[in-house]
Amino acid sequence: MVATKSAAVSTPILAVQNLKVWYGAAQALFDVSLNVGHGELVVLQGLNGAGKSTLLQAIMGLSPRILGVISYENNSISSWEPHRRAQAGLGYVAEDRRLFTGLTVQENLRVAARGDVDANEARVLALFPALKTMLRRVSSQMSGGEQQMLAIARTLMTSPRLLLLDEPCEGISPVLVESIVDALLLLRAQGMPMLVAEQNNLLADRADRVITLVAGQLSP
Ligand code: ATP
Repeated sequence: MVATKSAAVSTPILAVQNLKVWYGAAQALFDVSLNVGHGELVVLQGLNGAGKSTLLQAIMGLSPRILGVISYENNSISSWEPHRRAQAGLGYVAEDRRLFTGLTVQENLRVAARGDVDANEARVLALFPALKTMLRRVSSQMSGGEQQMLAIARTLMTSPRLLLLDEPCEGISPVLVESIVDALLLLRAQGMPMLVAEQNNLLADRADRVITLVAGQLSP
């Protein structure tokens, strides 16, 4: 792993060491170690089935069986329940987005909001201006890319201190991919650390670091 920001790497917000994950008897991750520094955008690449989702899920505490150390803000969180990790500031957007499809855009934004809701909403709508025009729309009536924006925006409403995104650009029209990449770059400029599983090179080209999983292992 090549570090481009030595200061960031010396004080990581997230440090994963020798992570192993199993589904039943099948091992999906083999001794994966990585860091995300404060303010760093790290893109995780790898073919389908390489283990990207498994890695993000393990960091969130959603994997059935793991070994290894996961440290966040200098706390070992490996034994924490997922909700405790979320409360501590880990913001996760799953590949399937998990929106409340019967609720409007604004209801989705507000349902999990923390802190100053109005200020948070103004901040996320500045990042995703397209959502501003559809606040009253039921989220089932949005395109895949619009839903993806809403899923990221909803997670931002919880005031996370680290974002974990699973393939935010997958299956999305090129125009909306550009909007999502722009929003993520703006977030990075605001200092948000991010670990993003993403095959689209538009984001990888702008990342601080790109790491690649091959069959459950980090490629050297
Ligand atoms: P994709 O881009 O297709 O989502 P990925 O890189 O995210 O791929 P994972 O979904 O993490 O890869 O899968 C890693 C390995 O773990 C694969 O061999 C997959 O079949 C297996 N796997 C993932 N989820 C489960 C599960 N719930 N039960 C059993 N095996 C699983």
